[in-house]
Amino acid sequence: MQIVPIPAFKDNYIWAMINDAQQVLIVDPGDAVPVIQFLTQQNLKLAGILITHHHWDHTNGISELLQHAKVPVFGPAHDPVPEITIPLSENQQAQLSGFPLFSIIDIPGHTLGHIAYYADGVLFAGDTLFAGGCGRIFEGTAAQMYSSLLKLKSLPGETKLYCAHEYTLANLRFALHVEPKNDALIRRYEAVEKLVSQTGISLPSQLSDEIQTNPFLRCQLSHIKHSAELYARQALKSEAEVFAVIREWKNKS
Ligand SMILES: [Zn+2]
Repeated sequence: MQIVPIPAFKDNYIWAMINDAQQVLIVDPGDAVPVIQFLTQQNLKLAGILITHHHWDHTNGISELLQHAKVPVFGPAHDPVPEITIPLSENQQAQLSGFPLFSIIDIPGHTLGHIAYYADGVLFAGDTLFAGGCGRIFEGTAAQMYSSLLKLKSLPGETKLYCAHEYTLANLRFALHVEPKNDALIRRYEAVEKLVSQTGISLPSQLSDEIQTNPFLRCQLSHIKHSAELYARQALKSEAEVFAVIREWKNKS
């Protein structure tokens, strides 16, 4: 099984999971054109589509891909995406012959219906957990988003994170403001800078690295709370409040 990024728009990745039979599962096709081009060039067969949430840059390519091949479209039961044929929510699974059985995790916050797909150490997290950061809170509350991130944080440390945007360097630059003395973060920033300049892509990342360097997964730590309190100029009572302040800080940075 191979997972390959198909770049789209300015900084989106449409992930392609390819099995030994040259069949492909496409994740969040915001644009059909680069996907069809990829399938044609590599001589691959579209087998199914996974959708994490309803935003246009994750869904606009679905209809055109369905004209190309009638395949199942897995997606969130509680986000409005009319092309979805198999609506899913937590405790259900996405099952497609020839591919791993994905567990569904409800992760509201960025959108209310946002779901993640997890199987065999692979996590498709859409716009909720990014390498070095997290998505904006458009529909849910900060508390919802934080509890969604904690669910993803509880997956095995060796899990590979396939998120939908190349935001890593900007995220880590912000993380250094929150946590300037985190050695793992300083080392990661340097490593990612080198990786991106050589390959143009920083993904996938590993969940254990996120837990050591992503401030949004580290709100329980007293020095992060202190940093958030200095920014907010007030005492913060809970981890979720620390999270909300850091998210707001990132929005304004
Ligand atoms: Zn989105």
